[in-house]
Amino acid sequence: MPLIPLLPLFHAFNTQYFEETLTDGVKPLVAVRWSDGKLRKTAGFYRRKRKGLFQRNCEIVLSQPLLQNLPRSAIESTLCHEMIHAWVDLILGLEEGHGPNFHQRMNVINSSQDKFKVTIRHNFPVPNTLQKWWAICPNCLIRYPYKRKVKGAACRRCCDKYHDGKWNINCLLKYECFSEEA
Ligand SMILES: [Zn+2]
Ligand SMILES: [Zn+2]
Repeated sequence: MPLIPLLPLFHAFNTQYFEETLTDGVKPLVAVRWSDGKLRKTAGFYRRKRKGLFQRNCEIVLSQPLLQNLPRSAIESTLCHEMIHAWVDLILGLEEGHGPNFHQRMNVINSSQDKFKVTIRHNFPVPNTLQKWWAICPNCLIRYPYKRKVKGAACRRCCDKYHDGKWNINCLLKYECFSEEA
């Protein structure tokens, strides 16, 4: 699935939810881009890098690996979340994280539309990588947590107990998905 371009979305949100404060004329006060494939810890972030006394270099980065296969509303929600951080920082000049101004703006945005919902969880929505697997033994029903499915993995206990420690197809683990944040 091709990545949706973020800049038009940024401009639309800037007009709809930020009274066009996040642009100087048509120029965004903050750069917006997709990450490379490595950003997996968070769905997105806002950061400010100071270059000298007056020059600022701010950017919003959204995680390509976490968001690219999620519905558009997840991308919108994450972008909007980071734009609130940019607004609190650049327009209000405050350092408050998810403080009262953040919450207030978030609530206004959430109550003004129902296409997406901004939350204070940085990982909203639950990224694919947080999904884990229970590997369940069909014999003894023991559950092993797995980060990913391992093809052909069998229950060691039952292989030891019933099959002289040799891998046996009857001990093949069955996988069940679960989410840490559920
Ligand atoms: Zn945040
Ligand atoms: Zn077993």
